[in-house]
Amino acid sequence: MSLHDEFELIRGIQGVLGRPSRRVILGIGDDAAVVKPPKGNLVATVDTMVEGVHFDLAYTTPQELGYKALAVNLSDMAAMGATPLYALVSVGLQQSTTEHFVGELYQGIRKLAKRFDVDIIGGNTVQSPTATVIDISLIGEASKTFITRSGARVGDLIAVTGPLGESAAGLNCLKRLGRQNLDRLKGLVNAHLMPEPRVKEALALVKTGAVTSMIDISDGFARDLHHLTGQSKVGALIDEAAIPISDLTRKGGELVSTSPRGWALYGGEDYELLFTFNPKKLSAVKKALGKSFYIVGEILPIKQKVKIKNAAGEIGLLEPRGWNHFVRRSRLKNDPETVLV
Ligand SMILES: [Mg+2]
Repeated sequence: MSLHDEFELIRGIQGVLGRPSRRVILGIGDDAAVVKPPKGNLVATVDTMVEGVHFDLAYTTPQELGYKALAVNLSDMAAMGATPLYALVSVGLQQSTTEHFVGELYQGIRKLAKRFDVDIIGGNTVQSPTATVIDISLIGEASKTFITRSGARVGDLIAVTGPLGESAAGLNCLKRLGRQNLDRLKGLVNAHLMPEPRVKEALALVKTGAVTSMIDISDGFARDLHHLTGQSKVGALIDEAAIPISDLTRKGGELVSTSPRGWALYGGEDYELLFTFNPKKLSAVKKALGKSFYIVGEILPIKQKVKIKNAAGEIGLLEPRGWNHFVRRSRLKNDPETVLV
């Protein structure tokens, strides 16, 4: 593959991605792709990752970067209760970018796309002067029962699909200790660099008919809970003792002397699903997810605001803090409970 010859580059990318599925009538290589339309509603999402803002190539391999750029889109699709189908990939490459890097980047995308039966149907490659950029658009399908952030009702239970804070723990350990020193904490590194999008879990939840609202945790549990309660016009009470924190995250916290609580509540990039459901349908949710969900609180009337009960039983406001791309890093640096270091 050559980065200087457009035709060669497209052929190289096609070579990495392989043949698309039969849904694709015309894939990469023409002015636009042509695909069969889904039977249900069409669902679309897009996410951009910029070097220096969302990733650091000092400790991220190009395969991991490609994987994560698709994973964050799959996670958004999951949060709607939709099935992912087609992706368009745009990359901004620097002058210094090698052919090997591009091949590996697409390899990372391909591996995850294959697992979730997603076709890469096109994209764009441009030159970017100072930072590598990757931007993926994902198209999917949802039946009439897609799930939004706005359906939570008073009395609903609030749950998450997995432990929180692992990604933030991984990021902190990577930044402070360096990747070469994290062999024993591989799980944390993977949680940050290669998060598992909860597509299967989301589709299982949709089938139950029990879920009233859902969001994926990208900005941090507290901030995303506020997105959900804000759009549902409700309040919430979270039981801090019920927030799932893995032993690995606690170990990471000990190593860099940071509270795992902060990572779990405000850390971000967990890509677990945060959802609400009617308590009468608890058994249906249990049947759909088995043991891989944790009830962390309940929905209250809006006047109760969003609160958290700590281990001592004291109740305070849960502030909507967390990862915010528009807040300067320096302001967050001195905050002991943010992930940025
Ligand atoms: Mg989202």
